[in-house]
Amino acid sequence: MAERRYDPREIEPRWQELWAKERTWQVANEGVARARGSSPSGIAGGDSNSYVLEMLPYPSGEPHIGHLKTYSVGDAIAHFHRRLGRRVLHPMGYDAFGLPAENHAIKTGVHPRDSTAESIAEFQRQFRSWGISIDWSRELATDEPSYYRWTQWIFLELFRAGLVYRKEAAVKWCPKDQTVLANEQVDAEGRCERCGAIVEVRQLEQWFFRITDYAERLLSDLDAIEWPEHVKTMQRNWIGRSEGAEVTFRCEELGIDYPVFTTRPDTLFGATFFVMAPEHPDVVRLAEGSEHEQAVRDYVNHALTETSEERGNAERPKTGVPLGRSVVNPVNGERIPMYVADYVLMEYGTGAIMAVPAHDERDYAFAQAMKLPIRRVIAGSEGEDGLPYTGEGRIVGSRPNFDGMDSRAALAAIVAWLDREDKGHASVNYRLRDWLVSRQRYWGTPIPIVYCPECGVVAVPDEDLPVELPNIEDYTPKGRSPLAAAEHWVATTCPSCDGPARRETDTMDTFVDSSWYFLRYCDARNSRAAWDRAAVREWMPVDQYIGGVEHAILHLMYARFFCKALADLGHLDFPEPFEALFTQGMVTKDGAKMSKSKGNVVSPASIVERYGADTARCYILFVGPPDQDADWSDAGVEGVHRFLGRLWRLAADIADAAPPSANGVQGPLEATGDDLVLMRKAHWAIDKVTGDLRRFAFNTAIAAVMELLNDASRLRESAGDDALRFALASAGSLLFPFAPHVSADIYERLAGERVWEQPWPHAEESFLEREVYELVCQVNGKLRDRVQAAADASADELKQLCLVAPNVKAHVDGREIVKEIVVPGKLVNLVVR
Ligand SMILES: [Zn+2]
Ligand SMILES: [Zn+2]
Repeated sequence: MAERRYDPREIEPRWQELWAKERTWQVANEGVARARGSSPSGIAGGDSNSYVLEMLPYPSGEPHIGHLKTYSVGDAIAHFHRRLGRRVLHPMGYDAFGLPAENHAIKTGVHPRDSTAESIAEFQRQFRSWGISIDWSRELATDEPSYYRWTQWIFLELFRAGLVYRKEAAVKWCPKDQTVLANEQVDAEGRCERCGAIVEVRQLEQWFFRITDYAERLLSDLDAIEWPEHVKTMQRNWIGRSEGAEVTFRCEELGIDYPVFTTRPDTLFGATFFVMAPEHPDVVRLAEGSEHEQAVRDYVNHALTETSEERGNAERPKTGVPLGRSVVNPVNGERIPMYVADYVLMEYGTGAIMAVPAHDERDYAFAQAMKLPIRRVIAGSEGEDGLPYTGEGRIVGSRPNFDGMDSRAALAAIVAWLDREDKGHASVNYRLRDWLVSRQRYWGTPIPIVYCPECGVVAVPDEDLPVELPNIEDYTPKGRSPLAAAEHWVATTCPSCDGPARRETDTMDTFVDSSWYFLRYCDARNSRAAWDRAAVREWMPVDQYIGGVEHAILHLMYARFFCKALADLGHLDFPEPFEALFTQGMVTKDGAKMSKSKGNVVSPASIVERYGADTARCYILFVGPPDQDADWSDAGVEGVHRFLGRLWRLAADIADAAPPSANGVQGPLEATGDDLVLMRKAHWAIDKVTGDLRRFAFNTAIAAVMELLNDASRLRESAGDDALRFALASAGSLLFPFAPHVSADIYERLAGERVWEQPWPHAEESFLEREVYELVCQVNGKLRDRVQAAADASADELKQLCLVAPNVKAHVDGREIVKEIVVPGKLVNLVVR
């Protein structure tokens, strides 16, 4: 018999057509609120609905390898959840506004709407050709008026709640893109995240979201969600909470109070000068008319072109200019001189600091450079020469009340004194700044605000939404929004007094669009509201969110803020949008990030064309743990393709060799000899893949199916038909989340059923031969129990075994576990107090 040929070009479209025709992955809203019984894995438990979501793609050109990876991960989870019996929402949309489409338009003259639509069409085509199980009935793009109408509504809801405001501010400005950037869009080197140009600073009237009102909750609620620890750490660092005091220094000549934030109020008596950031709005005014005026202007202009990283570099020689003014230190009435220096950043605290050179490294370096006095107020253990001394110790030189105190006690005493004297108070500072959302660009959601000479700033009434983006010819930025030139659009009537008025011409940061799209999927075709409460309650929060770690502080912080603000306004019932997050690693080629300039780009389209989608998807999950970076290998792709071919051929041969017995694909009832060997292997694979899927170890899950195939091939002649049929059908069933087309084909041939309609296979204990040993369970080093543990159990599993051991429970209940020591093969020791 001629060898059969595995032909993905025949197999894949056949299944894709069936799924499209039957709308297999579409789910309806049933109006059933979720019973939130969350289990540690987020998978088992009584919850019958599941929302699996990949971060929505930016439609520019065609999908790249990162999209293939993200959606291969997400689709595996979606299929797994479905077959665990859950109704799964797995939608798809496009983050369609934004700079790349607009820049492309400036270059080519193609309207962003057209280039975006073209790209979306390509995404749709490719996603279908990958066989991703998407509910297409909920598809959306953020540039559709039916979507951004509700983005505008949310803006106005926040505006009405006082969470949106307008103010003049020093903003980061990209000279190349001619637009304002959020702090988050400026990289560590002070360059524009989009184009790499060095970012400048400008003063402009801007719209802000008051995200800082939520700083504390954004921080504390991190404890309640299942996110990777490194992402939580990035968010914590970005929020940057520190405790200290706000202390008021007064410039008596001008009668202005300057509050500063300090984490070390215990060193207040050591302040010998006062420094302001170059961006501080008062700097030039303070120096005006003094001999230093010109020097200050020159210094400020120069400093603003420098990056925060250069300025923050502790090693760099310190520079600065006197302002010719002084402030009074509130604790001792001493006048200390004012400076402007670039080592002080406007983003931190109030943009001004009290300088304590004896106890701060940068203040010390500045004092040395400027020959300013250095006064020690904390005695350290290392003697008088060890300055700057940043540790704690005994207070000196802080008469009359604090000398001799321990610096920690003095800190509290000084804050209390400041409070009584009305010169300061305890304070918490956050690094997080309010979110600047104005963009002087065309391709974005118009800000639904009108300026009336009579009424001032007026919100566009809800019934007049959307404020549609007009069609214009010239999108070239000229330092103001291109919309400002669309006079017919800008000129309008005031909704409040019917008089002539003008529209806001800035558009919104595209991160606003993507901060709520996951809510809209729950009720994507609603034309009366952004969403129906019941629909959102049915699906949200997202059970499993999947995307790149590069969104750790941007999108993921903003979406959390929106969720909290909308919940406070009574529009949502939950404070966090994403219960669990998975961040996938990058796919590199020859050890480097794929890029056109390096010429090392692997396009998903070419791989799918050559090998089929199943090979592409399976390979990208097999190449390594999906949360890690992985290097693309053409040989590896070939290997996975051969595996799928071998599996399909053997399954097809077995299917044709004999009709299924009455027992179907249950395998032989009484297995002995090689039947038993194969049955054990199949159940081992079921057990292994199930566990691996729960912990995103897709690479080892696929490897387990490979092992099963190897055994089936080896025992082909000696094992019976029923055992072979069971083993291969199980292989198809287990591989379906990763390679759906070939797996559906195999399963249909062997079992005559649709694999996706089958429950997830169950590993029979009787076939699982696991080596076991006696695990010693200790509490605080004392033997409390012994339990049977599987030889291959993970550290986590061992810990769980120990925790439920009766005599361990008795010694742990009601106490706090502060440490867990796991020695696999031996013991678990829980340290409690
Ligand atoms: Zn730029
Ligand atoms: Zn008016």
